[in-house]
Amino acid sequence: MRLPSWLKRRRFTTVLGFTGLCLVTLALTKAAETRNWLPAEPPSTPKGAAIAKPACPAPANPDPLLGARTREPGRWVGRRPVRADLPIVVMAGHADSQGMASAGTPGFMVDKQGQPPMQQGIRDELYWNLQVQKAIVQQGLNRGLNISAYNPPSFTIRNDADPDTNWSRAKLWSARGDYILEIHFDAYRPHGFGSGLIPAINRPLNVVDESLAQAFGRFPRNFRGGLGGPRRGIGILEIAMLEPPLEQKLRNPKTRSNTVNCLAERVVDALVKGVS
Ligand SMILES: [Zn+2]
Repeated sequence: MRLPSWLKRRRFTTVLGFTGLCLVTLALTKAAETRNWLPAEPPSTPKGAAIAKPACPAPANPDPLLGARTREPGRWVGRRPVRADLPIVVMAGHADSQGMASAGTPGFMVDKQGQPPMQQGIRDELYWNLQVQKAIVQQGLNRGLNISAYNPPSFTIRNDADPDTNWSRAKLWSARGDYILEIHFDAYRPHGFGSGLIPAINRPLNVVDESLAQAFGRFPRNFRGGLGGPRRGIGILEIAMLEPPLEQKLRNPKTRSNTVNCLAERVVDALVKGVS
């Protein structure tokens, strides 16, 4: 049977097309084979793309990020449920007591290695408390927490009862049901105890206290006979002792922001778990 000329043309085009496709495939396969013999190219980062942030060390005990947990552990359990939109206020420990007896730890590198403080006029503990506080609030907002920061107007407020101190604000806001978390670094060894939560004393302990304690460790509820902060509703979170290797990772400009963010991520993970 004779095919109409248009159909013959079409068949011819189809055959040509198929042959062409095979040749292209073959060429590509050949190219891939050839490339296997070349050294691997470094992965290209598209211009303007954010550099992927290095992963944070996974929690463990002993912990690669935080070091040792408190050597004096408590036995309390936080069971009271909380609202999903629990208002969380994050404070920086010693933010109103610079130049006073309770200024916080200078850290191992300043005290024992003679390094200059991170910022003149304030203890290194406060410097890092402030960095971590800021990162916690940023990450917490991104993850949908009802979270905010409080910072007193001056680094030195001599009267504890001044309405602008961490203590006065905590007392007020804790009474209305806010969760008050104050960020601290503990002293270096042998003075420091290690990481952990010293929970509030003025209210029943809740699932957010429990979640933070599981992530960081727990101090006895009446640690040192009951500290001023916890009596006013402050949960004191000792992130870690301010000593190497963590302190070096914080001080090294190349690893600083990642380290601060990883510390904040541990806190925010625990807060998110606590309220959900
Ligand atoms: Zn402190």
